[in-house]
Amino acid sequence: MKTVSFNIDIDPLLCYCSIHGIKDVLDDKDDPVVSLSIPRFLKIFEKYGVKATFFVTASGLTEKDFGILEKVVKDGHEIANHSYSHNYKFSLMTKDEIEEDIKKNHQIIKNRLGVECKGFRSPGYNSSNSVVKALQDLQYDYDSSLFPSFLYNASKWLIIKKKKMSGLHSSSTINSFRDSFSSTKPAFIESYITDSLDKGNLIEFPITTVFPFIGLPLIGTALTSFPQLLVKTMLYLSSFKDFVNIEFHAIDLCELGDSDMFKAIEKMQFDLKIPLLQKEKRISQVIEYYLEKGFCVKTLSEVASAKKGEV
Ligand SMILES: [Zn+2]
Repeated sequence: MKTVSFNIDIDPLLCYCSIHGIKDVLDDKDDPVVSLSIPRFLKIFEKYGVKATFFVTASGLTEKDFGILEKVVKDGHEIANHSYSHNYKFSLMTKDEIEEDIKKNHQIIKNRLGVECKGFRSPGYNSSNSVVKALQDLQYDYDSSLFPSFLYNASKWLIIKKKKMSGLHSSSTINSFRDSFSSTKPAFIESYITDSLDKGNLIEFPITTVFPFIGLPLIGTALTSFPQLLVKTMLYLSSFKDFVNIEFHAIDLCELGDSDMFKAIEKMQFDLKIPLLQKEKRISQVIEYYLEKGFCVKTLSEVASAKKGEV
């Protein structure tokens, strides 16, 4: 049966400040992203009776944020590991540093939410042999860091260069352009996220992209901001796949008027200017599309268990 997974990376506002080279936006104020957007995602998922995977980075989360994540768990969604530090140079760290970071995040989530993470996504989609080895040693079931999109990597490269020329330092980095052209299908991996195997213990779930070479990404920013006709075409092309992995970010369900703090990044984060109602409508349409096409909605952990059972 064809399957679709919806996942949400809970990246706090600090991550965007760090990408755009902006400091001191938060001061002592609470980060608005989690408390605003996660209840909005939960409402949409509840409406359609579907379960999703939430990738959590525990550093910077407040008690109030953890209270919201408790509701995520209570509603039956999966919590996965998105690293503790959300360091965009994560893949350049040593294997010991990587393992320590993943373990720290894992333990905080376990202590605070009572769940054991089984899956991981690297910050900024950058992975390495050391990340894969650390996940194997920690007996994780899956990784979902591969983003086979030349369009995304080329845009990121241009933004980093542009910022450098205007004197701003972006913490963002590009791991490898090679990943842009890798397989878009889930596969077992051994030493690197692009090394596909027929069997094994660790599965890689690439984020779904369509159109060979360019790799139009099925991510929240594209699905909420691209012209409707293009989005429909992307969904149509993805419907021929056996497995579709759609990635949102928490900020996808925030809008400029939500918080004064968003003003600092409004020029770079153009999608904040899109009205919330439009974004909610687009995300609902995406879910409706796959349900109408007969796709089964599963968390990544459920897909990993099923895939392991097949071997
Ligand atoms: Zn992230």
